[in-house]
Amino acid sequence: MKYIVEHMEPLPMSEWVTLEYKKMLQDVGKENLLICSLPKDTKLDDITKELIDLGLQWTTLQLDELHKDYPSFTNIQDKKMCLLDPRGKTELCCDDVNKYEVCILGGILGSHPPRDRTKELKDKHPGLLEGKRLGSLQMSTDTACRCAYYILDKQIPFDQIKFIDYPEIRFGKREAVEMPFRYILDDVTGKPILPDGMLKLMKKDSEQSIDDLF
Ligand code: SAM
Repeated sequence: MKYIVEHMEPLPMSEWVTLEYKKMLQDVGKENLLICSLPKDTKLDDITKELIDLGLQWTTLQLDELHKDYPSFTNIQDKKMCLLDPRGKTELCCDDVNKYEVCILGGILGSHPPRDRTKELKDKHPGLLEGKRLGSLQMSTDTACRCAYYILDKQIPFDQIKFIDYPEIRFGKREAVEMPFRYILDDVTGKPILPDGMLKLMKKDSEQSIDDLF
C-alpha cells in the first residue's frame, strides 16, 4: 500500500508534525509515503531537514494532479484511493487491500473536541474518495497510518489490534497530561506507541503552558 498525507498545517513544519511524519516514514518506508498539497510557494527550507535527509517525498501538487509526477501513487480518477476518515460509514478491513492502492490521511494535528477537518478532503474531491473508519475515536495522524498499515499490509484485523484510549502521560510526580487520542499499544512495553522524541516534546510544551500562566 501507498500512503498519502494531505498536509493541512502551517509551514515551516512544527516539531510535532515533523515527529509524526518521521514515525510514518519509519513505519511504511520512504517509497510508500508522500506528503502532498503543500502551499505552492513551499521552499526546501520549509521542510525539516531531518525529513529531507530521511528521503521524505513531498509535493505542492494536489491529490488530483500528482499521478503525473508520482504514477505509483495512482490517479484519483481510478477510485483506488481510500480516505481514512473518523466519520467514514464503514470500517477499514484486511480485504480492502484488494480494493485500494492508496490510503489518504489528513495531515492535521488533532483538536479536542475533534473538528471535522477531514471533511475538507472529501469536499475537495466529491465522489472520488471512499471514506473508511478506524473505529470512532480520533487517532493522531501517525497512529491512524500505523493502524491502516497493520490492517492492510500486515493483515491484522482491527479488532485484534490493542489500543489505549486517552492515556495519561506522566512526566514526574506532579506533572501529567491526558492525550485526547487513541493510540496503539506496544506489545513489549505495554505503553502507547508514540513517535521518538514525542514525550520530550510534550514535556516541553506542558512546561511552556505552565510558564505562560505566570
Ligand atoms: N479531528 C480531526 C479532524 O479534524 O478531522 C481528526 C484529525 S486526525 C488527528 C488526522 C487524520 O488521521 C484524519 O484526517 C484521518 O485521516 C486519520 N484518522 C484519525 N482517526 C481516525 C479514525 N478513527 N478513523 C479513520 N481515520 C482516522
